[in-house]
Amino acid sequence: MNKSTAASFPWAGTHPWDVDILVIGGGPAGLAAVTRLRWMKSCSPTPLSVVLVNSGPIGGLARLGNSILTGPALAFPAGELVRRLEQDLETYPAPVLDQKVVEIRKTKDLFTTTMEDGSVITSVSVILTCGMLDLRNIHQFWQKGVTATFGNRANIRAILKRELTAHRNPVILGGPHLLQLLQTIQNLNLDTRLLIQGSGHHNQGNTIYGELVRIEPSGQGLTLHLGSGAPPLETDRLILEFNSLELHRSPLPLGLDMDGIGYLAPNATPGLYHGGDCGGPPFSAVVALGEGAKAGLEAYRYTHQFKYNRPAPLFAYYGDDSVTDENIDQDDFHLHPDLIPARLLDRCPSARVQELWDVLDGATSIKDLESKGVGDNVQIHDQILTLLEKRAITFCPQRDRI
Ligand SMILES: Cc1cc2nc3c(=O)[nH]c(=O)nc-3n(C[C@H](O)[C@H](O)[C@H](O)COP(=O)(O)OP(=O)(O)OC[C@H]3O[C@@H](n4cnc5c(N)ncnc54)[C@H](O)[C@@H]3O)c2cc1C
Repeated sequence: MNKSTAASFPWAGTHPWDVDILVIGGGPAGLAAVTRLRWMKSCSPTPLSVVLVNSGPIGGLARLGNSILTGPALAFPAGELVRRLEQDLETYPAPVLDQKVVEIRKTKDLFTTTMEDGSVITSVSVILTCGMLDLRNIHQFWQKGVTATFGNRANIRAILKRELTAHRNPVILGGPHLLQLLQTIQNLNLDTRLLIQGSGHHNQGNTIYGELVRIEPSGQGLTLHLGSGAPPLETDRLILEFNSLELHRSPLPLGLDMDGIGYLAPNATPGLYHGGDCGGPPFSAVVALGEGAKAGLEAYRYTHQFKYNRPAPLFAYYGDDSVTDENIDQDDFHLHPDLIPARLLDRCPSARVQELWDVLDGATSIKDLESKGVGDNVQIHDQILTLLEKRAITFCPQRDRI
């Protein structure tokens, strides 16, 4: 999987905005959105640039357990669903930033998204697919010091009993509802510490309010690093208590409206879309895939209209009422000479179009390319169509036209 930094985007700094569509969160919802954006049904829809920002593993929570989508006929063992989704991301890559988003603001027409390291990305659309939890590197210790409660009430009790009696200084990570189990937990192991996931940091006895930001191995156990300068916790077992995590989401990035239990509230901000667990229950991979794909298509339509000032031709997803007797023979994509072609992938996908690829700089319009002698109008048009078919370029209008 390719990992990038904001500075390595091929289009960074040369356009009125850094990327057309920013997807936040790389679980099933985010991967469905990115794939849908990079792989439109035919070559006609112009590729839009997309970047994925993800603080956890590619695949999110679906990396940890089985993913039964609708029933036994559509069931994937742990990691298999993610492996399938990753295949498409390998074929139609998008830059992936290993970062946490801390703030999203919309000023005038553009979104400004701030990362934990202070870097900023501007975009036309944002798709939020950041799940119920910032996973960080939890997956690296899954079943190697980290486990979870799942299933029904009886399962939760059985797992807590098994884990808390077998370990010396366990930590349970959960939401505020975990305090409803305090008596049960203390009866099983008085030394258990509860880590209530949230921003800031304070302690109340064995209950710690803070944010888990990284896990490291330490001797036979784990060191849990917390945010806000809180001292690390040493533990021989970390238990994720999913019931309480589901009942209250840890803080979303600043600038977003939340519902009463911390999930993303329905919003009417043009250009902001979401899918999957971050929108609240039901928490399910199949819902996340569907909502992520829908968010991808919606963001495509919105951004296409914004960028090119005409509707996206998405026949078979939305219908296209611009198809008429007069234009039925024409391509959907009309190459406007003022468009500025910018690279989307790192490598030119075809030796035949290398010459054009070499001069694409994200600042030179098609008209300028022609005057530089890259080829005549027809040659440039054909080569650009080849690059479009390979999803290798995107376009921006000229900066002074925004
Ligand atoms: C053990 C287990 C078994 C499961 N079994 C099933 C099943 O059989 N069937 C089923 O349908 N579902 C199942 N689920 C649920 C399913 O996995 C989730 O509903 C699904 O993964 C949600 O997808 P998502 O993309 O919305 O979020 P996630 O998979 O949670 O991915 C979100 C990603 O966003 C990242 N992120 C969070 N905040 C930020 C931020 N601020 N900036 C950047 N990145 C951020 C996270 O670190 C994570 O990588 C199971 C879950 C678990 C844990």
